[in-house]
Amino acid sequence: MKGRAEIVGGGFAGLTAACALAQRGWRVRLHERADRLRTAGAGINVYENGLRVLQAVGAAEETLHEGFVTKMRETRDEHDRLLSVHHWNIRVYGVVRQRMIDALAASATRAGAEIVPNSEGVAATPDGELLLADGRRIKADLIVAADGVNSKLRDSLGLLAHRRYLQDGCIRTMFEESVGQDGKTIEYWSGKRRLLYNPASTRHLYIALSMPHDDVEARELPVRKDVWTESFPRLAALIEKLSEGRYDRFEYLRLKRWSAGRVAVIGDAAHAIPPNIGQGAGCAMMNALALAVYLEKNDVAFGLQEWEEKERPLTNHTQRISLLYGMPTFWPQGLRRLFYGLAGRSRWLTQQRTRTARHIPTGTTS
Ligand SMILES: Cc1cc2nc3c(=O)[nH]c(=O)nc-3n(C[C@H](O)[C@H](O)[C@H](O)COP(=O)(O)OP(=O)(O)OC[C@H]3O[C@@H](n4cnc5c(N)ncnc54)[C@H](O)[C@@H]3O)c2cc1C
Repeated sequence: MKGRAEIVGGGFAGLTAACALAQRGWRVRLHERADRLRTAGAGINVYENGLRVLQAVGAAEETLHEGFVTKMRETRDEHDRLLSVHHWNIRVYGVVRQRMIDALAASATRAGAEIVPNSEGVAATPDGELLLADGRRIKADLIVAADGVNSKLRDSLGLLAHRRYLQDGCIRTMFEESVGQDGKTIEYWSGKRRLLYNPASTRHLYIALSMPHDDVEARELPVRKDVWTESFPRLAALIEKLSEGRYDRFEYLRLKRWSAGRVAVIGDAAHAIPPNIGQGAGCAMMNALALAVYLEKNDVAFGLQEWEEKERPLTNHTQRISLLYGMPTFWPQGLRRLFYGLAGRSRWLTQQRTRTARHIPTGTTS
């Protein structure tokens, strides 16, 4: 036995850490403040890097059951004219988020991790004490803060270096629809508004509507079909099917360090990333698995240091490139067209954008 690990947060980051640590001999308990494991945000894209992590922790098969195999991403304007196309030469799946959460939870439980709902973490100390909302204090050899972008544990340790709301946000929605097998996702642009058509399984269509945060009518819920149809008249029939959804403003944050003593911070709590290249959960899962790998042969202090030193540069790169791909939203239309046209053709830019997806994560075989 390696020791006791207390994980706070049952999202993609916390659950992956639970699997990977329990599979390496840690006694793992995961605290989730909600009454059950559930995830907001409908669908998600998982790229080669994330798929490798799912495979390594034993959650790939269940996650990918009925998953949508994505072969290409088109960018189109409001008149349906093609601006650019990217053919994936790696694996990419559209997945229903809840299915991935359930698959990770099942794998964590199989490995012996205990998942405790209705249990909220409020603070942690570098010497390994976790304070819960019910007043209990628990000692652990390792505490993993995976409590999302508003992480209480991170803030109790003063680790935040920089946090900012970005100028844009997104409504995510999903409905049952049998989708074609052409392997195509499409991002439509109209002015500063975007509509992402993205199957999340062979039976679920995930739609993400992005807009500047100050575009109040476009981010209204239930979805303002009149407003969105005005922007995308050719998609009127699709827009008519939208109703319920969830709006989130994009955020970006960086930490001074990814750990303090016996506490490691992972996922959005450590490195919230705007979703322009769809790698927030990918990085969360890679870093969670790597954490367990670095602690396999090292003590906690050395292991956490090595982990951050080796893994953080790729996450930093992912954050930078994702910010870059969000910038054209606020450029004049002509310039934006030029950027996406160029971005589609530039080998260098494509390599930068896909570097994270092509990375072979620590703890997975090449
Ligand atoms: C519009 C949009 C689209 C995206 N698309 C993609 C994509 O296609 N691909 C991709 O890889 N990423 C994508 N992302 C990013 C991805 O959703 C996040 O990076 C990922 O969900 C982060 O996982 P997490 O486990 O760190 O945090 P979360 O998912 O936020 O999970 C945190 C968990 O901790 C729990 N919790 C919070 N506080 C406490 C507490 N104090 N005590 C106990 N439990 C607590 C919460 O209830 C939750 O269950 C997207 C994000 C957005 C906004």
